[in-house]
Amino acid sequence: MNVAVIGGGYAGFAAAVTLADAGVAVTVYEAARELGGRARRVVVNGVALDNGLHILIGAYRETLRLVREVHATPSEALTRLPLDWQVHQRFRLKAAPLPAPLHLAFGVFMARGASWRERLAAARFVRAMRAQHFRLLEDISVSALLAAHGQGPAFQRYFWEPLCLAALNTPPAIASAQVFLNVLRDGALAHRSAGDMLLARGDLSTLFPEPAANHVRTHGGRVELGSRVEGLVHTGEAVGVKTQRDTQWYTQVICAVSPYSAAALIAALPGLKDIAATLDQLRYQPIYSVYLQLTKSVRLPAPMLGLTGLAQWVFDREALCGQRGLLAAVISGKGAHQGMTQEELARKVYGELDAEFGPLPPLAWHRVIAEKRATFECAVGVKRPSTRTPLAHVHLAGDYTASDYPATLEAAVRSGMAAAAQVLESGVGAQEALARQSL
Ligand SMILES: Cc1cc2nc3c(=O)[nH]c(=O)nc-3n(C[C@H](O)[C@H](O)[C@H](O)COP(=O)(O)OP(=O)(O)OC[C@H]3O[C@@H](n4cnc5c(N)ncnc54)[C@H](O)[C@@H]3O)c2cc1C
Repeated sequence: MNVAVIGGGYAGFAAAVTLADAGVAVTVYEAARELGGRARRVVVNGVALDNGLHILIGAYRETLRLVREVHATPSEALTRLPLDWQVHQRFRLKAAPLPAPLHLAFGVFMARGASWRERLAAARFVRAMRAQHFRLLEDISVSALLAAHGQGPAFQRYFWEPLCLAALNTPPAIASAQVFLNVLRDGALAHRSAGDMLLARGDLSTLFPEPAANHVRTHGGRVELGSRVEGLVHTGEAVGVKTQRDTQWYTQVICAVSPYSAAALIAALPGLKDIAATLDQLRYQPIYSVYLQLTKSVRLPAPMLGLTGLAQWVFDREALCGQRGLLAAVISGKGAHQGMTQEELARKVYGELDAEFGPLPPLAWHRVIAEKRATFECAVGVKRPSTRTPLAHVHLAGDYTASDYPATLEAAVRSGMAAAAQVLESGVGAQEALARQSL
């Protein structure tokens, strides 16, 4: 079997590692010089940052399994923090060391910054969702769901709404309540450690894509960096992968590029026009990361804290990855920050952090990384294509493909594994056909 994977992000490498493990030598094409796609290392002034702060949760079963498989020192790859949701000086919900779902029920009852009435309403809401197995007969927005279940202002403002924005990167007024409930079901309530938050100690390229690339190479595969695929050609028996250099032919191709790149690659293939049209209709939401390097060491009250200004979260990179005096703030979704210059935004966020935690040491340098199409907008009714296409030789992988989850690392990884499983199935089918012919 001769397989190409186009795209060296988490989806592409989940597919490539799965195939390599099954004894298939794959070729991975990646347009950039750095592996990881939307979860990659960015080096600034000699410091390894990420294009955006990424939180994994304990429920990311497949991502964590693959990291354990390919990482040289998996036990040191991630910092694990038990669920402790803090909005600085305003709200705190800390899971208790009890079995699920008591761990969360206790946390909700003991939540600081919300009245008894609100805590009771939140506990009733979770109980009602459990009773209906986290399924809605018809999808509605997260705001509508929360309103229908009488959630109080503190829980809305400091817990449900930021949770929706953090998990779905989509404002609650339009976000899919069904996807939100899926996240709640698997992310907080499945078992006690499902809601643990995990952060990479190194950078996101080192966490998975780079060790995965080594794994692919040691299993006889190839990883072509700086190799943009310009088009795909289909002959009925094989698919040609065109780069600036040449066209290589494969029996199977997994297209694991971002959704906005996938449409252009597949549109000309027979029968895939409708999928390309679906991809063209996806809308996107941004995520901005504001890195502030201070001249001296600084420690926040917790490694990760919610905020209520323009910045929604701040991460203490010194506590998390030993990067002295480095703070990182995150702004998900659309807003006033999009009209600011990098300098204005960095100064504004520095001012907000100084007011919350200051006086802070002076700023040595800053870097704003704006991912304008960070994720697809996970709104009610959004259409997502399957990993299967009408062409038996072409498969899709990526965080945007149809699944229970919003655009996350786990969604990307699972899609890659699903596409690889389809490739392997087709190989078995082809072998059976050959065997029938020779009989
Ligand atoms: C700032 C930010 C913060 C985020 N935070 C979180 C978080 O906290 N938790 C979480 O779970 N998820 C988070 N996400 C989402 C997560 O990063 C994505 O869901 C995931 O990385 C998508 O992986 P992918 O492999 O599907 O796509 P991508 O990462 O987009 O990978 C596609 C790859 O294909 C390559 N490519 C494109 N076109 C071509 C071509 N023609 N030829 C060859 N290669 C090509 C690209 O260069 C890229 O490397 C965040 C995303 C961003 C941007």
